[in-house]
Amino acid sequence: MRAMQLNAYGPASDLALVEADKPRVSADQVLVEVGAAGVNPVDTYIRSGTNNYTASFPHTPGSDGSGTIVEIGSDVTGLTIGQRVYFSRNLTGSSAEFTVCPATHVFPLADSLSFEEGACLGIPYTTAHRALFGRAHAKAGDKVLVHGATGAVGIAAIQLALAAGMTVVASAGTEAGAALLREQGVDAVIMHNEADHLAPYQSLENGFDVIIEMLANHNLDQDLKALGFGGCVAVVGNRGTVEINPRDLMARDASVLGVALANVKPHELDLIAKSLRPLLENGLLKPVVRKTYSLSELPQAHEDVLKSGALGNLVVSIK
Ligand code: NAP
Repeated sequence: MRAMQLNAYGPASDLALVEADKPRVSADQVLVEVGAAGVNPVDTYIRSGTNNYTASFPHTPGSDGSGTIVEIGSDVTGLTIGQRVYFSRNLTGSSAEFTVCPATHVFPLADSLSFEEGACLGIPYTTAHRALFGRAHAKAGDKVLVHGATGAVGIAAIQLALAAGMTVVASAGTEAGAALLREQGVDAVIMHNEADHLAPYQSLENGFDVIIEMLANHNLDQDLKALGFGGCVAVVGNRGTVEINPRDLMARDASVLGVALANVKPHELDLIAKSLRPLLENGLLKPVVRKTYSLSELPQAHEDVLKSGALGNLVVSIK
């Protein structure tokens, strides 16, 4: 089968198209013929061995994807050959024609979604759901800031929060990003590269119940001042260290919560998939695919996913 691989940690340009053996499944696994692979920032951390991520080599990047089940392990129940699915984790990499997934991380793909849209669900929507509901316990009527809302997780968080009846303020880094957020129907857009962009919210009366934070090392200190009483910051993304004043937390009975998709248990993943499904079917959730790459263009997708100016998800179509 065709796969993109590299043999040691390195830059995206080290990725090469190779002919690899089709992987085999064990009893609790399924083999998926990949339709599309999602490209997420974590793929670049694993490829380059940064942010505490490691890989074994040869390494085929890609956690997220969607496709069709072509083989099922002897112990697997509830999934069928020929079924359209998406997955939030796999064992052999999704930038390939076939990938092996633990059956616990494979979920039915709604007929209304293309494989490209399905490839946006595993990490972004699951993480956004976990952050909003599993960690921050956000609920209808809450005032939520999605800080860094134009990317894959941010768009998912906006859609989930709006669908649940929250008031959503969302931040962008570019005018194109701001326009995308307005199209998504948020209540207000702010620009995260402008100094003092949180100032209007930095009082107990105007503060947020929940902040979903995509770049905590830049923003956490100011986020804490923009929380209402009892509010919380759910840290989804972070690329460094930050100094905060804990008094900002004390004054508000506020808290900072970590979010890590890797900590979500299989039964919780299943519950999240079940709650996403009707919202995807009735169109309240709709992935925004910014760009689709061919398999051999994966190096460019790895470069692009780290650039500012996000406008939704990047996916690789495996044809
Ligand atoms: P993405 O699609 O690349 O989007 C990155 C987002 O960060 C964009 O909205 C970008 O906005 C925004 N951003 C850039 N500068 C910012 C700033 N100063 N303040 C606030 N936001 C800023 O990435 P993603 O897939 O949405 O993931 C977002 C982050 O969460 C990444 O760091 C990723 O590694 C992490 N993540 C963590 C988990 C977990 O389990 N904890 C899961 C998934 C992702 P502009 O481009 O418009 O400036």
